[in-house]
Formats: sequence, C-alpha cells, structure tokens
Amino acid sequence: MFSREPTASAAPIVGRLAPSPTGAQHVGNARTYLIAWLAARCAGGRVVLRIEDIDSPRVKAGAFEQTCIDLRWLGLDWDEGPIIQTQRLPEHRAALDQLLARDLVYPCTCTRGDIERAASAPHLDHEGPLYPGSCAHRRVADAASLGSQPAWRFRLPAESPVFHDAFLGEQRIDLHRVGGDFVVWKFAGTPAYQLAVVVDDAAQGVTQVVRGDDLVTSTPRQLLLYATLGLQPPAFCHVPLVVGTDGRRLAKRHGDTRLAALRAQGVTAESLLGLLAWSCGWLPKVEPIALRELLPLFRLDTIPRQPFVLEPALLRGIGYSA
Ligand code: GLU
Ligand code: ZN
Repeated sequence: MFSREPTASAAPIVGRLAPSPTGAQHVGNARTYLIAWLAARCAGGRVVLRIEDIDSPRVKAGAFEQTCIDLRWLGLDWDEGPIIQTQRLPEHRAALDQLLARDLVYPCTCTRGDIERAASAPHLDHEGPLYPGSCAHRRVADAASLGSQPAWRFRLPAESPVFHDAFLGEQRIDLHRVGGDFVVWKFAGTPAYQLAVVVDDAAQGVTQVVRGDDLVTSTPRQLLLYATLGLQPPAFCHVPLVVGTDGRRLAKRHGDTRLAALRAQGVTAESLLGLLAWSCGWLPKVEPIALRELLPLFRLDTIPRQPFVLEPALLRGIGYSA
C-alpha cells in the first residue's frame, strides 16, 4: 500500500476523493486531493469521486458543480462517480439497523449545549468536548418512550483500535479521552459522517484513504465500525493541512484562496501544481509542472510533517494576490 508500483498479486488499489459541497474548494483542499490522487495513480489504482453532502444544513448550492470544475481544472480525474452520498441513505440505514439489532448503540437526547456544560476538560477545536455518557445507561428499546427522535451513539469498547498510518506511523488514540461514545445517526434522522464514510468506502471498494490530518481522530472510530459491521478497512494516510501565516487552518480570514479565484486571475493549474509539488518536497523550486510529470516524482516521505504555511508571497509568486 502506498508504494509506487502496482502489485500483481494484491487486490487492485482504489483511492478516493471525498469533497464536501459545503463551500468552495481552496488551495488546502487541492493539496490534499493532489496527494490522494497521486497515491492512487502511482500505484496503478482507480479513483472514486464521492460527494459527501450528508451535512445538509451546510451544503451550498452550486458547490458540487464547482468542485467538479475545480478537480477537472487540476486534471484530477476519476473512474467512478460522482457518487452522491445522500442517495445512499438506505445503505446507511441498513448499517444502523445492524447496530440497533445488536444493542451496540444507544439513544441520546443531549443537545450540544448539554454536552458542553457537562464537559470537564477543555477540548480540541474541531473535536468537540468529551461526551459525558449522560445517556449511556439506555438500551435501544428505551427509544420508544423518549417522545422525540433521538440521535444514536456508538458505545465504545474498552480498547480503542491502534492503527498504522502511512504518513504518521503508529497511532494510539484513546477514544475514551477523545470524543467518547460517538454519534452514528443524527437527530435529523440522517447518518453521521463516521457511519456514512465507512459504509460508502467499503461499498465502493476503497482500499486507501488519504485525507487531512484533522480527521486522524476519526479513524479509530471508523475502524470500530468496520470491525463491528464485518467490513474490510482501507489503509489510512493523514497528511498535514495548509494553514495561514497565523498557523490556523486556511479560511476566509486568510484572503480568497478559492481555486476559482486563482483561475479568475489567470493562474494556471500548472503553476499551482508547481507550488503544491514544491510544498511536498517533490520539486526543488516552484515552477509550473504538468500533473502527469508529477507521477514519477510523487512520494510521501518528502512531505514535511508540519502544516504547509501558505505565505501570501507564495501566491504572488504564481501570479495571484489574495
Ligand atoms: N468530506 C470530508 C471533507 O471534505 C472528507 C472525509 C474523508 O476524507 O473521510 O472534509
Ligand atoms: Zn446523551
């Protein structure tokens, strides 16, 4: 896995791009997709495009079409898809039903506010507070008497899965300290990310997942679901994010780094690819390069461990002022 050469005997490699249409794709997304795409293509693998639109309140009109335009502009093609995640609700529901039938989940009626008030420790930005277990005494059958539709939480076993990350190495994340029992089905009656991503990656034959390292704490949860549902997990590779000069994840406050905005100012895909390739240690200096020329240069071990700081001067160097 994540080697350069296709292996004759092993199962075919399948990678994926899984954008959420919750906003425009920016330089940070492009870097992660580039790494994911190259990791699959360099191994002779296929690429699936899945649009993760289950977070419906945050989905933006037109973002799906725009994402396809952005990926095509970069030259990141796919063999299957776009598969629309919300069209797979019956499969997600079937997975929940398995968990319900085995009493592996329990109904939770806590609001975000309830959980925050009960949290004893400060929490990581994106992770949210540790779930205090307020509803953990319930069984599945208790849901009938609750009056309103609950969310469903997966009850953690004592041990959290340890896994090998192709970029980060061995990961030991104790879910009892990070997040706690986690939601697999939301109040809204829709699947949570953790469940949908597992059901879909498995159904779509994905063998390697490359994504931003903000999701590394999701992986042990997903591995629990793979094991519980009797599904084969993919290999995982979490890569550092792109941040602004303040060290925070790329966002509007860092100026307009949307791919569409770069394009509108005449930046070519080759110029951006050159910048991204340099940031990954594949080129000694920033110079325009075609995607196919990156295939022989791709490797994981030259990618810096730290987030890539997108200095405005780097963008100016490829002809863009944010
Ligand atoms: N849809 C997620 C995102 O755009 C990615 C999820 C994943 O790669 O597992 O952040
Ligand atoms: Zn609860």
